[in-house]
Amino acid sequence: MSSSYNRREFLALTASASLLQAAGGNPLIPLYGSDAGSPRPSSVQEPLHWVRQGIVAASNMEALSFVRRRGGELLDYAEQWRADLSDATVRTLLEQGVNLILITLHKGAGLKTEAEDIATAREFVKVAHRRGLRVGGYVGATIFYETLEAEEPQSKDWKQIDEFGHPLYYTPTQTFRYMACRNNPGYMDYIKRVLKVGVLDLQMDMIHFDQLMWWSAPASCHCQHCRRQFRDFLKDRYPAKLALARFGFENVELMDIPPFGSDSIRFAEVANPLIQEWAWFRAWSLAKRYQELSDYIHQLNPGTAVQGNPTMNLDNNVGFLYGVDYGQLLEGGDMVCSEEPNQPLWTDDGRLVSQIRTYKGARTMGKSLWVWQACPRGDKNFPIYAGAMELNISEALAYNDRNIGIVAGFDVLSNTVPGEVKPYIELFTKRSQDLVNTKTVADVAVLRSYASTSFNPAHSNVSTVLVEQSLIVDKIPFAIIFDRHLRNLSAYKVLVLADQDALSDSQLASIRDFVKAGGSVVATGRTSLLNEWRLTRPKFGLSDVLGVDQPAPDQEAGGPSRRTEVGAGRAVYIPRIEPAVEPPPAQVAYAFGNHYWHLPRNHEDLIASIRWAARDQLSAEVKAPRWVTIELAQQDGGLLLLHLVNYKPKETVQNIQAIIRPPAKFRVKEASLVTPEHISGQKLTLESGPGNVSMVIPSMRVYALITMSLEAI
Ligand SMILES: [Zn+2]
Repeated sequence: MSSSYNRREFLALTASASLLQAAGGNPLIPLYGSDAGSPRPSSVQEPLHWVRQGIVAASNMEALSFVRRRGGELLDYAEQWRADLSDATVRTLLEQGVNLILITLHKGAGLKTEAEDIATAREFVKVAHRRGLRVGGYVGATIFYETLEAEEPQSKDWKQIDEFGHPLYYTPTQTFRYMACRNNPGYMDYIKRVLKVGVLDLQMDMIHFDQLMWWSAPASCHCQHCRRQFRDFLKDRYPAKLALARFGFENVELMDIPPFGSDSIRFAEVANPLIQEWAWFRAWSLAKRYQELSDYIHQLNPGTAVQGNPTMNLDNNVGFLYGVDYGQLLEGGDMVCSEEPNQPLWTDDGRLVSQIRTYKGARTMGKSLWVWQACPRGDKNFPIYAGAMELNISEALAYNDRNIGIVAGFDVLSNTVPGEVKPYIELFTKRSQDLVNTKTVADVAVLRSYASTSFNPAHSNVSTVLVEQSLIVDKIPFAIIFDRHLRNLSAYKVLVLADQDALSDSQLASIRDFVKAGGSVVATGRTSLLNEWRLTRPKFGLSDVLGVDQPAPDQEAGGPSRRTEVGAGRAVYIPRIEPAVEPPPAQVAYAFGNHYWHLPRNHEDLIASIRWAARDQLSAEVKAPRWVTIELAQQDGGLLLLHLVNYKPKETVQNIQAIIRPPAKFRVKEASLVTPEHISGQKLTLESGPGNVSMVIPSMRVYALITMSLEAI
């Protein structure tokens, strides 16, 4: 089980850090647990080792009672639904390589109202387990008040309400669903009863929590529990003196959840300290409740996996809008879901659209990602073209930790995996031994600090998304990290701070330590000009490292300035990442969707700077068109793996040259090229260079894997 901090610890430590700041010392930073990013061990003694062995999923997750109440289903849906949860389905799925199916456990209408659905699920789990198919159960976070209030009268108090006392609905059309508040202890107790049914009675192998997020202001919860807990949060973090420095007066009990009126949020940057604290509170409390539910499930059965759906999407300001701080939230659970509209694609106007950011963010937190590979309803987010699903699965093979997502089904019934996908599932299964227990090998870390990207997304997140885009198409091995990871950067050669304007003194100290030890920093824009309260420093907090004191005026972009004598490391300051197309106007409710993902105008400068900062010693260098991406990984004490994905699946790519620099004191002994067309692999000829080895991949369609065995020198 991952480490967790308790609330007292969190508050005490952050408060003491803040007191130091008030005295001119270290500022407040959120305290994160220590070991996220270490994937769960895969030894067979570990109850959850099956998660890391690999997931190939199907879904039929909607309760019949819900579909009926929603309306709009097929006339014979009920018959189809019942027939589908059958032994025949189990056999069909297993034959196609599926090893887990997500079905309904509790949508929100009540255990009695959903009793028939639950009974059907119970029978299905038995049938599935008999044949070796694992089953997960869906748990929603809404209240179907018509029935639940009849079953559980106290549930009248469980709903989220806005500042005017109105209930918050799930969607405008689904008028029968209120959002439940996870900060309500009565609701949490009820959900634990539901979990007992799923884990102990039905023996489900996984629990899926949907709507793992808060609603965006003005639809944000102002229930009595949220209000009281927010005041406690403030009180614990801000003793009188510190409150005076933060808010201008000593008594934080005078404050309440900030009101937003009936309109949407209309500011570009979060400077108001109470609104900042409210955002932190939402992120912290969501992570806390998720951890509590995860721990409860693992106590009931250590072999039951936990999965949440915070609708991961790193181009959207989910930090502020939905209270999702990945660095906190993903400490809980075992897997995580994305439903972002970034299905992989090389567009006609030359943008590489991908879910690579999301995979990388989840992977840094030690979690694998569930994506929808199959969507028979023709969702507009799923572009239909030849090779689309092959590409989608290739992305998962390359970037995910043993999870190729949902390949069959949706909330309607379709248990057939498309033929073109079968070789990929076969590769995933047959090469399992080579693909388990791996970690990403990354030379570069890109930081996404919460106080920067969530409170000033139009600058911080735009710059970050663009630099990531440059790294992706230039095939530079990189990782995405969050605040908590600054404490240990030893795995990386270069830290990229793309307009990470708000960094605390203790974060700056970690960065200085990294540079002293030989790490390099590439910083852009207003990086480090503000502290984590977004108060402006007289000069850059990292001016000593960067050799620059102040940001240049916007119109004077200028070129990079490089420094070589910073501790043992190098530093580059780049005044601005220059978007090729004008980003959307600045606002906090910000999305920087893939429409904007053109390479920045100073792409070449950025890449040259990052390569220089890495002393031109990248672990992998691959010469291929921009629509080919790479991911480098290594097995614990085993193979080095280079994954390649071609985002133009209709065009075969030929003669790709790859140079690999293996870890110190090792050399590459043998390399083999594995593709869905040639799963058993073909040996590649190696040419040795100084500290490296080069090889040529003669040809690849959509996905290629080079497995390299290492030997000590
Ligand atoms: Zn609430």
